[in-house]
Amino acid sequence: MSSTVKKNSPFRPARIRIVTLGCAKNLVDSEVLSGNLRREGLDVIHDDDPLPADIVIINTCGFIHDARVESIDTILHYAALKTQGKIRELAIMGCLSGRYPDDLAREIPEADAIFGVDDLRAILGRFTGHPVAPDPLSRKLITPPHYAYLKVSEGCNRRCSFCAIPLIRGPQRSRSEEEILEEASMLVSAGAREIILVAQDLTSYGMELYGQRRLVHLVDRLSASADIPWLRLQYLYPGGIPPELIDLMRERENICNYIDLPLQHISNEILKSMLRGHTRAGIERLLVEIREKLPRAAIRTTLIVGYPGESALHFRELLQFIRETRFDRLGVFQYSHEEQTAAFRLDDHVPRSVKKQRADRIMKIQQEIALQKNISFIGKTLKVIVDRMETPGLYSGRTEYDSPEVDNEVIISAKDGGLMPGMFCDVRITGAEAFELFGEPVTEKSSG
Ligand code: SF4
Repeated sequence: MSSTVKKNSPFRPARIRIVTLGCAKNLVDSEVLSGNLRREGLDVIHDDDPLPADIVIINTCGFIHDARVESIDTILHYAALKTQGKIRELAIMGCLSGRYPDDLAREIPEADAIFGVDDLRAILGRFTGHPVAPDPLSRKLITPPHYAYLKVSEGCNRRCSFCAIPLIRGPQRSRSEEEILEEASMLVSAGAREIILVAQDLTSYGMELYGQRRLVHLVDRLSASADIPWLRLQYLYPGGIPPELIDLMRERENICNYIDLPLQHISNEILKSMLRGHTRAGIERLLVEIREKLPRAAIRTTLIVGYPGESALHFRELLQFIRETRFDRLGVFQYSHEEQTAAFRLDDHVPRSVKKQRADRIMKIQQEIALQKNISFIGKTLKVIVDRMETPGLYSGRTEYDSPEVDNEVIISAKDGGLMPGMFCDVRITGAEAFELFGEPVTEKSSG
C-alpha cells in the first residue's frame, strides 16, 4: 500500500513518539518500527512516556466502529497539539489509515503523512531521510521484557462475512519457520520467558508458503528448540485445529494449557451466514476432544452479538450454550456493520441498545461462571509468572491459563519481597474474585 505524503519532512526529528492502538499484531508493528528507527540512530519513545516528542506517529486500529472512534479521538488529540505548536509533525499509520487514507487526508489537514499497513519502508525513509531496508528482527519491545508477541503471518485468506481484516491486512503471508525460530531465540536471549504466537489465522500458518498448514510443525520446532519456558498460541480458528496440535500441547510441558478459540456464535443459521465454514456439531466435537485430551486447559472464546438476522431465539441458543459449556475465559463484541464486508449487504436490524443488552447479559452469566471456577482454585498451588510490582510486597502475575491484558491476574502478597517481574513462582491461592485470584508464594525460583 503506498503512502500519502502531503509535505516533505524539512528536518531530521529530535524525538519520535509512537502511539499504538489496537491488537497485539499492531503492537508488534510498532515494536519493529521502533527498533528500526533506533537502529538508524533516532530517539524513540512510546505512548504516554512523559518526555516531550517532536514527532508523533499514531499506529491506528480500524476493524470495528469502537476501535475507529478511539483512533480518531487519539488523532484529534495530537492534531490539536500540533495546532498549538507542541509537536512538529504528525503521521498516521496502521489499519484505520490503510483503510481510509483519502478520508483521513481530507478530514485531518494537520496530518503530515498517512501510511498504510505495509508501508514500513516508506515510514523509515521519511524519518531517517534515506532509504532503509526494514529488518523484522530489529524490535524494541513495548511489552515488559519477560513476554513478547511473535507474529508468524500477516493477513488472512478466510472470508468471514463480518470481518474487515482481510480488506485491511490483505491475503495471508506467512514468515518462514527459520525466521520465526531465529526471532524466538533472539527474544529468549533478550529475556523473554513467555512467547505468544499471533496471527490473524494461526491455524492456516504456512499454507501459501509451504503448500500445507504447518502450525504443528512450527510449534513442535519452537517448543523443542528455543528454550522457551512458556509458549502461548493466540487465536485458533475453530474449523482448522488439527488433532495433532492438541496431542502436541498435551505432550509438551512448555506449551501453555490455553486454547483461544474465537467461536463468534453457535446457531447454525448464524454460523452459515457468517461464512465460518463449520457447524454447531463440529464445534461441540472439538470442545469434547479438547476437554478429553487437555482437561487442564483454559478455553477462551470471543462472541459477536447482534449480527444481522440474530433473533431472540438465536440469542437464547447462544446463552444456553454458554451456560452449558462454561468457558474459562470469554469476551463479547457487539456486531459492527463494516462496509465492503459480505455482511454489509444484510440488514443491520438489531438496535444498538439490544446489542448492548445482549452483550451485558452474556458477561453477567460469564462473571458467575468465572467466579465459581476461580473459587475452585482456592487452596491449590499454581505456577505464576510475575508481571509487575504493584506496591512493595504486592505483585501482579498470571498463570498459564491467562494471556496478558485480556485475562485474569493473580495478586500475590509477598511481605518479604523477593519477587521480580519475569520470575516464575508457585503461589498458593487464598482468595478469588470473578477475574482475579489472590495468593502467597510457596517457593520462589528464578527461572521456569
Ligand atoms: S479468520 Fe479471523 S481475521 Fe480471518 S476473516 Fe475470519 S474473523 Fe477475520
